[in-house]
Amino acid sequence: MPEETVFRKIINKEIPSDILYQDDYVTAFRDIAPQAPTHILIIPNKLIATVNDIEIEDEQLIGKMYTVAKNIAKQQGIAKSGYRLIMNCNQDGGQEVYHIHLHLLGGKQLGNLL
Ligand code: 5GP
Repeated sequence: MPEETVFRKIINKEIPSDILYQDDYVTAFRDIAPQAPTHILIIPNKLIATVNDIEIEDEQLIGKMYTVAKNIAKQQGIAKSGYRLIMNCNQDGGQEVYHIHLHLLGGKQLGNLL
């Protein structure tokens, strides 16, 4: 069983965070150390440690994370100007919290990543 992370405490509201959206499947909240004017994390309420651990049965859940991300981008007023969605995986990918999360970054010209 993968170990629970700080994100479980955020989902359960055991520690404070700026939650923008939550339903039975997905939670979205502001990153504590924003790397852009808009930096929001979209996570599944179910613990999936890394992208490597995503199963076929999770496909709908992963799709929902993207639907929530684009809805939040619209609410935050960055849908038209644009934004970036990133999911880091393991050490080389720069993953620090082992509960998958989609970074929604925007509000400025982000520059090239590749
Ligand atoms: P990773 O490097 O794993 O892709 O991203 C983890 C992200 O979670 C980082 O951007 C970090 O700032 C954010 N983060 C870590 N701990 C907390 C926390 O307790 N609250 C919030 N809101 N964000 C966190």
